[in-house]
Amino acid sequence: MWLNYPNNPTAATADREFLERAVEFCRRNDIILCHDAPYSEIAFDGYRPLTLFEIPGAKEIGLEFHSLSKTYNMTGWRIGWVCGRAELVNAIGQLKTNIDSGIFQAVQWAAIEAMNGGEEETKAACGVYARRHRLVADTLNSLGWNIKPPRATFYVWAEVPKGYDSIGFASHVLDQIGVNITPGVGFGAHGEGYFRLSVTARDERLEEAMSRMRKLRL
Ligand SMILES: *Cc1c(COP(=O)(O)O)cnc(C)c1O
Repeated sequence: MWLNYPNNPTAATADREFLERAVEFCRRNDIILCHDAPYSEIAFDGYRPLTLFEIPGAKEIGLEFHSLSKTYNMTGWRIGWVCGRAELVNAIGQLKTNIDSGIFQAVQWAAIEAMNGGEEETKAACGVYARRHRLVADTLNSLGWNIKPPRATFYVWAEVPKGYDSIGFASHVLDQIGVNITPGVGFGAHGEGYFRLSVTARDERLEEAMSRMRKLRL
């Protein structure tokens, strides 16, 4: 079973009870639970995403993945880790040695540097994301949406207005105000009816996009 919390694209977070149920289910059915957790450090206002290994019994069946992509702005550098019971990690090692090879040494040195003191930068970045999230939520809410800034990730996931599907709404926004939003259906059929925004663009650009959104006619 593959889970991803805090989630991309929805920014949903998993509470303890949800993870307990997942662990229980996997234990009962002899399934390995892989938790993809690249947003574990991108959280706001005192919220701390749970690690799978806080859940009793998770160690026997669980693996947790992290990437430096989001935590240290190293997207595309292709470096991360997996944590879990030796036997399960070995299985991943066996698979991986058959599909790729070692990471470029300079990227490994950069990763060591990041992990030996990048915490302050990550914290500062979270402050920036949280501020931008408030701007996006305020803007959308002033237009009739009713969203709360998310507790984690740098995404905003919101419903498209009545009368549109997600591609239709994204096209409308692009044609009318030149702002590119991501149609939810691009993430799979269950994303229909939603769109995703990201708050990774620099302040001026996001502010410009939000001031254009305020002029959007639906
Ligand atoms: C960004 C991201 C990752 C990490 O991918 P990398 O290949 O390490 O950049 C993994 N899972 C999800 C859901 C992500 O959004």
